Amino acid sequence: MNFDLSAEQQMIKQTIREFAEEVVAPGAIERDRTKQFPLDIFKKLAELGMMGLPFPEKYGGGGSDTISFAIVTEELSRVCASTGITYSAHISLGGAPIYLFGTEEQKQKYLTPICKGESFGAFGLTEPNAGSDAGGTKTSARQIGDHFLINGNKCFITNASYAKFIALTAVTGETDGKKEISAVIVPTDAEGFTVIDQYEKMGLHSSNTTELVIEDVRVPVDNLLGRRGEGFKQFLVTLDGGRIGIGAMAVGIAQGAFERALAYSKDRKQFGRPISSFQAIQFKLADMAMKIELARNMVYKAAWLKDQGRPFSKEAAICKLYASEICMEITSQAVQIHGGYGYMKEYHVERMMRDAKLLEIGEGTSEVQRMVISRLIGC
Ligand SMILES: Cc1cc2nc3c(=O)[nH]c(=O)nc-3n(C[C@H](O)[C@H](O)[C@H](O)COP(=O)(O)OP(=O)(O)OC[C@H]3O[C@@H](n4cnc5c(N)ncnc54)[C@H](O)[C@@H]3O)c2cc1C
Repeated sequence: MNFDLSAEQQMIKQTIREFAEEVVAPGAIERDRTKQFPLDIFKKLAELGMMGLPFPEKYGGGGSDTISFAIVTEELSRVCASTGITYSAHISLGGAPIYLFGTEEQKQKYLTPICKGESFGAFGLTEPNAGSDAGGTKTSARQIGDHFLINGNKCFITNASYAKFIALTAVTGETDGKKEISAVIVPTDAEGFTVIDQYEKMGLHSSNTTELVIEDVRVPVDNLLGRRGEGFKQFLVTLDGGRIGIGAMAVGIAQGAFERALAYSKDRKQFGRPISSFQAIQFKLADMAMKIELARNMVYKAAWLKDQGRPFSKEAAICKLYASEICMEITSQAVQIHGGYGYMKEYHVERMMRDAKLLEIGEGTSEVQRMVISRLIGC
């Protein structure tokens, strides 16, 4: 067993750490306040070859692996979780389904611009009445001759304002009384397709979260992604990969909060001593360090299994569940260690705590992860 990163993974980690410190960290508080999408940062990430990192070079990708993707997501999230989720969704929800299920022609047409950073990747699954129960999809894609006519609504969709096309799930018919759900690629500038960016969120303010209104949108049947009726299976596979991204985000945010809490505890004096000399504070920091280490190991293990082409659904659910829950706990404790200053924006940890909450909700809530794990352990 080898716990070392490869030379390439180490180089990616060093490159993205420097980039995150120099380019992403400085504006994080301001972007959170102004809700400005970090477009400039992503132009630079494209120049660094990060936008298609785990996808093959023939589509403009970096030919790298899932562990490297997790490292980049972790390092971006350590300083700015909005940048982290934008990157994670771009790769694991936007690029991955096209890479996994697309035809060669679709990959050339849609994956290449994602890898080059010419379009953001996005994935439309959730609907106002179909969240955890994503099979409750109401959006329909009715085949009429050589076209689909699509109608419906999607909610909470990451990156759609900056995506030139989006894969979304829709009901394409019925087989044996059961809904036939398929995935269809839809250009976001199609007539009748509206992207609304108006949510007032708790956190992740500079990420893009949108509502999609789809009214009589026509797309050629060639835009079907994968096989007809397999959309449900496809999004389960897509979400398995996405959960590694959320786990990596959680490790990154927790690491950032921990580092700030540790530094602050050495600086802040009360009762004539740095608060880091109090055992109550030391034990909080020790617990943080322990949990981050465990979560990171689990995220890397799930990513490694995926890279080996081995089953990883259970490990992805475990890493997502564990990392997101310890991230919530650690960011809350980081605020606690900062006392009243932690409640103030300039100390960063309150933003990290608000951003962390999404990780227990997106790509399957904690309750859904427990359902997945229960099923996979044979309950
Ligand atoms: C910022 C943000 C970004 C997002 N990005 C995307 C995206 O890019 N693409 C996309 O498709 N979606 C996206 N989502 C949607 C996200 O995946 C859903 O919000 C999530 O799956 C939960 O669905 P819901 O909000 O409808 O909650 P619900 O499913 O209504 O759940 C409400 C509560 O009930 C619990 N619950 C539900 N069913 C059960 C059950 N059987 N047993 C026990 N408890 C249960 C849940 O765990 C939760 O606590 C995003 C959401 C947010 C907030």
